[in-house]
Amino acid sequence: MVEKRINELVEILNKASYEYHTLDAPTITDQEYDDYYAELVKLEAAHPEFVRDDSPTVRVGGTIIESFNKIVHEVPMMSLDDIFNDEEILDFDEKVRKVVEHPTYVCELKIDGLSVSLLYKNGKFVRGATRGDGTTGEDITHNVKTIKSVPLSLPKPLDIEVRGEIYMPKKSFTMLNEQRRLKGEKEFANPRNAAAGSVRQLDSKVAAERNLDTFLYHIPNASDYGVKTQKEALEFMKSLNFIVNPNIKYCEKIEEVIAYIKYWQEHRDELPYEIDGVVIKVNDLDEQHKLGFTARVPKWGIAYKFPAVEVLTKLIGIEFCVGRTGKITPRADLAPVHLAGSIISSVTLHNEDYIKEKDIKIGDVVAIHKAGDVIPEVVCVKKERRTGDEIPFVMATTCPICGSKLVRKETEAAYFCLNPKCDARKIEGLIHYASRDAMYLEGFGESIVEDFYNKGFLHTFADYYTLDEHKEELKELEGFGERSIQKLLDAAEASKENSLERLLFGLGIRHVGKKTARILAEAYNDMDHLIAATYDELCIIPDIGDIIAKSVVDYFKDDVNITLITRLKELELNMTYKGKPKELSELFNEKTFVLTGTLNMPRETAKERIEYRGGKVTSSVTKQTDVVVVGTSPGSKYKKAQELGIEIWDEEQFVNNLNL
Ligand code: NAD
Repeated sequence: MVEKRINELVEILNKASYEYHTLDAPTITDQEYDDYYAELVKLEAAHPEFVRDDSPTVRVGGTIIESFNKIVHEVPMMSLDDIFNDEEILDFDEKVRKVVEHPTYVCELKIDGLSVSLLYKNGKFVRGATRGDGTTGEDITHNVKTIKSVPLSLPKPLDIEVRGEIYMPKKSFTMLNEQRRLKGEKEFANPRNAAAGSVRQLDSKVAAERNLDTFLYHIPNASDYGVKTQKEALEFMKSLNFIVNPNIKYCEKIEEVIAYIKYWQEHRDELPYEIDGVVIKVNDLDEQHKLGFTARVPKWGIAYKFPAVEVLTKLIGIEFCVGRTGKITPRADLAPVHLAGSIISSVTLHNEDYIKEKDIKIGDVVAIHKAGDVIPEVVCVKKERRTGDEIPFVMATTCPICGSKLVRKETEAAYFCLNPKCDARKIEGLIHYASRDAMYLEGFGESIVEDFYNKGFLHTFADYYTLDEHKEELKELEGFGERSIQKLLDAAEASKENSLERLLFGLGIRHVGKKTARILAEAYNDMDHLIAATYDELCIIPDIGDIIAKSVVDYFKDDVNITLITRLKELELNMTYKGKPKELSELFNEKTFVLTGTLNMPRETAKERIEYRGGKVTSSVTKQTDVVVVGTSPGSKYKKAQELGIEIWDEEQFVNNLNL
């Protein structure tokens, strides 16, 4: 079984590698390649007996096109091992430290191009070569000569080999693909493949037109020139008129490396060329020498790959979810895939029209990206990867939970379950009521609400406030104890004080979102006035249109809703608008806070509450800090605040001020 999978993975990866490195036309994404590769590494580590000689883990990818002259590299051109998270950076540092006591690092941007070797004799450019399989590359001298940033002669008559990256700037890449599209030619998958495709042309006119550029980052025999560190190597190359990337950072601590990566992950879009990560190299060349190489990669350097922003995965099935309003939303189940730092296994498909428009079928390979970097969504279907076994989508006709017939309203793209007793609708309504923007019953997450509902403790919003009657039974539930139950009860109790707009939003009146709830609360000041409001009156309020007005009137006409509100009043919930939001609290607005020590309130909650009131939270104490909130066992921040004479609040004072 394991051997079979290893064989399968080697075949998949070698085929992909050939298409990528030799044909410059990948058929799978880098993310897919990296995921398969990681799986292979894991299996091979557990079963070294099955490691094949042609495994991509033991050789550098890429073969040579016959039509080019072959070049044997005097010093092999290596690849780099990839890592994907902070933990792996620390592991790398730890491994280095086993050999070198006090390593320092140079961080460089990982340019998404193809590596090149440039050879100079007596200061004159004589040869350019690709990496190929690491030992043998292709002679691309004629094309390299067309790249303007490659000096044809050096300021010193040196015999030297330098290595770096040939890349295609983003602008040139976009233009090139546009031209190809217009001509009906196949577009390049990414700037890397476009650059590789350009330098591996027999006719140098093509490369000359492609606006290629270079960054140099390595001297194989650096010590021959008196160079002792990677930092010096980069400076030396600069002095020889090579283009060296300016965004290089020398780091004495691994934390600086992590900060550099974080910075570039957030700012990569500002660069005029693509980067796909950061390369971390031990700075001292003697130390590099001590660390040495594996068959494929150096042990003194590593590539941190940024998470992909778009990935391909298989759509395994489509399920239907019922929302609190009864709206039915089709949701795609996906083969789990890494995307921008998280694992995605499902994505909303919105409604029937959306699915038809994108022509989504079950079994399709789909491209997924994160819209606004938060919510994943389907970009498109990869129709070229269809096998014919895909199953067409059919919209549900009955509610998947209660079985009642679904209705599509004329003005809506969505179908609805109209059964008010549908369990799914009730659960979703309860979850919404407790959610952050509504009544904010901290701790009542989706699974707890669902669990309490199914066990019969929670059926209406009022039940949140009588849960103490079930305290003993609740404590018996798995995962709960005296403290956790008390926390939930306290959260429910605290929410009774909320201003009217939160309750209005929490009730789930159709078309009354967060903003509308505030407008209504502001206009009517208390619940009874709003209940008495007529349709005409409501329509006069700015921002309240016909649909909302009708929906509000209908809601309060229903006896079930009036009974619920009466019950909530009996339970002493506040039913009035408490004035302007607390964002304007003088104690918090536009002030800078630092939290230190252990607080009873979760840090995130404290931060959120400060921000809600207009303040901001930073991590270190400076002269700009206005208030330091101190929990138990505070650290150096407390001391610093005292030294700088900054206002200090203990947690009790903090909570009191929040409630002012
Ligand atoms: P790599 O691209 O992960 O890393 C090594 C390369 O980084 C070096 O060879 C060099 O060219 C480049 N590099 C850029 N800036 C650098 C710098 N400052 N210092 C040092 N090197 C720098 O490794 P690789 O072996 O070239 O390619 C493997 C990767 O290619 C895979 O992880 C995968 O993402 C991708 N790949 C994709 C497919 C596919 O089908 N989509 C197939 C094969 C490989």
